[in-house]
Order: sequence, then structure tokens, then C-alpha cells
Amino acid sequence: MKLANRLALAFLAVIFLSASLTFVLVRSTTESHFRTFVYAGDAEKARAYASILGDWYRERGSWAGVQDYLSGLPRTMYESLAGDLYGSSTKGLVASFSADTFSRLLSDRVALADSEGRIVADTALLILGTMHPARHLERGIPVMAEFKRVGTVLVGSMIDPSFTGASGSFVDSLGSSLILATLLSGGLAFVLGLALTRRMTGRLAILNAAAGKVAAGDLSASVDIEGKDEVAELAASFNRMTEELLRLEEARRRIIADSAHELRTPVTLIRGAVEAMIDGIFPPDRANLESLHEETLRLSRLIDMLRELEAIDEGELILDIGDIDPLEIARKAASLFTQAARNKGLTITAMGESVPGARADALRLGEILQNLVANAMKYTPAGGSIEISVRAGPPARAGGEEDGAFTIEVADSGPGIPLEERDRVFERFYRMDRSRSRDSGGRGLGLSISLEIARAHGGGIEIGESRLGGALFRLTIPGRDRL
Ligand code: ADP
Repeated sequence: MKLANRLALAFLAVIFLSASLTFVLVRSTTESHFRTFVYAGDAEKARAYASILGDWYRERGSWAGVQDYLSGLPRTMYESLAGDLYGSSTKGLVASFSADTFSRLLSDRVALADSEGRIVADTALLILGTMHPARHLERGIPVMAEFKRVGTVLVGSMIDPSFTGASGSFVDSLGSSLILATLLSGGLAFVLGLALTRRMTGRLAILNAAAGKVAAGDLSASVDIEGKDEVAELAASFNRMTEELLRLEEARRRIIADSAHELRTPVTLIRGAVEAMIDGIFPPDRANLESLHEETLRLSRLIDMLRELEAIDEGELILDIGDIDPLEIARKAASLFTQAARNKGLTITAMGESVPGARADALRLGEILQNLVANAMKYTPAGGSIEISVRAGPPARAGGEEDGAFTIEVADSGPGIPLEERDRVFERFYRMDRSRSRDSGGRGLGLSISLEIARAHGGGIEIGESRLGGALFRLTIPGRDRL
């Protein structure tokens, strides 16, 4: 069943239940209060009747003829009143009021039970001669004669608890007003509930349609839901999710395309050279074979890098953390490039302080430094210089003690990296100047791998201003507290 229908049914059930409950409760409490009120009035009248009937019994000594007395009471009173007013003549009085008017004035139903509970008089003649149950008689007012209980008078609600006449129509009209109010408020609640449900399920349907599109492969699907409630929050999360999926999908596509492109170039080169050698166009001498070998080395280096990136993406980059001396690793990196630097007319120096308590994966750290120095070598023109400097800190807490954290900066006097390129150079396959980078064997992967390794250590790499005028890469590795 659809959510909207289910909610509508639930609304209806709740409204029906609460409305019926309110109806029953309000009706029963008002009825019981009203009954108490009516009963109080009837008890007052019954007391008056009890006193009259008590006198009547005292005079006669039995209840014989009491039915006629009670039934004729309105007429007796009428005649006695008429007699009082006009003497024995009742002429003229009939015009103003009659015995009927009196009957109506004394319209209460009166019943009298004798001392055994038998009904000896009933103005409605309905229960005359029957035995009245003792528990009903308890409600009546005792008729006393010579300090003896000779009977019980019951008036109106004491005989028949159901409401009749004006009381009945009051209770009935109360009931119908209650039903009307219940129906009206229930209907209003239902309409409001339905509108709310529609709005909610409508927004869920939008989300559902967008999710369906994503499932079908359309990652550009986004939902436009305003507000501050949970559905709007869900929509915002959904949009963030599709944006992230789109970004990942684009990155994946770009990596596949770039990898294929990067692999194709050296393979084409090698293939062309080998085919030329087979055709005898290209002599397979030492120099040509050496350049061919160099190309295969570059190719396998690229494959290694791709595998390393894959390992990083799969979360398989496992570090072998141990105590290290960052200055020594920096010196090793410098000496590795000393000869090449000399050949290119560059100077390379490593300096700084030793950092007690430094910990890292020595091989991976060396890899980062080699990447940074190799880049500096590639992009710094002859006559330039490269500096590697090591220092302790920054400590994990400001003002904290040295805890083995260290910073290594690789600065050069090359062209540097413009501000707007500083984030992008860490992206995979990104090269600022493709032709220049390609000439120098760049594939745009070194910096992204270096950054991943630094991050795996809990550190990072940022680009700063070099005092030598070129680029400056600052590698920071945190201390024991964070490693
Ligand atoms: P590549 O193998 O192409 O050098 P990297 O990821 O190591 O790839 O570097 C990305 C890009 O950053 C390079 O193509 C280059 O444009 C720029 N770059 C890196 N290091 C330097 C540097 N020291 N001086 C100037 N540009 C640099």
C-alpha cells in the first residue's frame, strides 16, 4: 500500500478513535452530572410528597385509595385554590386556568411503595401493583407516620432513570451537538492531515524519482527541496552524495583515460623503434638500445606508480613505521642526485637539525623526498640551486614540547608554481606545462603519490614561497602523539 494511503488510513483511525472516546467521555460525564442535578430536584419534591402522604396515612392507617388521591391531587389543589380565591363558585376561573394547567404544573411522575416495596400508587399507572426492587427503593424518600416507615415516595428520575421531556431533549441535543463537533473537528483534522501527508509524500516521491535516476546511472540527478525538516536534510545529503559520486566517477574515468594515454606513448615509441630496427632503418647499436632501455624503465616506473596509486585507493598502503633520522634521509636523497645535479650545472644541499624521537616509514619518506628533489631537478634551469632543509616541529600542541614532529622543505630556484596552480599540481596526471613536463619525463603522478604517503603518516605537503625564488614544498610529519 502507498505511504500516502497508509498515512491517511492511520489518520482516519486515530481521528475516529479519539473522536469516539471524547464523545463517550463527554457524554457520560455530562449525563451523570445532569442526572445528579435532576435527581437533586426530584428528591426535593419527593420530600414534600413524603410529608403530604405521611399525613394522609396517619389519618387513614392504610394506603387504600392512595392511587386515586395522588392522581386527583392536581384537581384537588386546583379546586382548593379556586375555592380560596372565589369561594365555592368556580365560574370565570376556567377561562384563566384549568385543572389541566395544574396537571401540567404538577407533571412529575410520582410513585408510592408501601412498607414491603409494593407499588400502591403510580401517577403514570405503569408499575402499579408491582414489587419495586429494594435497591431502587433506596433512592426514594421514606414516608413516616408515627415514627414508622410506612412507605417510600419516588419522583421522576427516581422511578425511571432515562431522561424524558425537557431533560430528555436537553440530553439529546447535547448528544447531537457533540456528534456535530466531533464530525467537524474530525473532518478538519483529516483534511489538514491529508494535506500534510500529500506534501510529505510528494517530496519523498521527488527524492525517489531522483534516486531511481541515479540507480539507472544518471549521476547528474539532483533534488530541489526547500525547508529545514528531515526530508529537506535528506535531500541535501542526497545532493551531496550524487555530487561526490559524480566527482569520483569523473576521477575514475579520467584516471583510466589518462593511464591509457600515458601508457600508449612509451609503448608506441618502443614499438616504433623495435620495428625500425627489424626493418633495418634503425641500427640496433648500443646507443639506440640504451635509449630503448631507458624508455622501458620509464614505462615500468609508470606502471609501478599506477599500482601504487591503486594500492592507496584500495587502502592497502601499509606503512612500516620506525625510529628514523630525517636529516640522514634528506642527505641520502641529496647525494642520490648530486651527480645528476652536477651534470646539469645545479647545486644541491641538505641541511638542518636532527630530530630526536622522529618516527616514519623510512623508505616511503625517502620516496617523497626523491619525488620532490627529482621535480626540482627537472624544472630548475642550469646554474640554479636546490636546498633540502630539516627542522623539528611543529609540535602537536601550540607551545608543547618537541615530540618528534618534523618538517622538511625542498626549495629550488626554478620557475616556481603560481598561486592558482598550487592545489591542482597534487591532482593525479596533472601537469602544469604538459610539453615541458613530458620532455622531462613527467607523468603528473609524483606529487599526488607523495601527498597520499604524507597523509597516510597523518601529515601533509603544502607549497610555500621559496627563498631561492622558485618552488618550495613543505612536508610535515606529526610526532608520536598523532602517529
Ligand atoms: P610530474 O611527473 O609531471 O613532475 P608531479 O606530480 O611530480 O608530476 O608534478 C605535477 C606538476 O607540478 C608538474 O607537471 C609541474 O608542472 C609542477 N611542478 C612540480 N614540481 C615543480 C617544481 N619544483 N617547480 C615547478 N613546477 C613543479
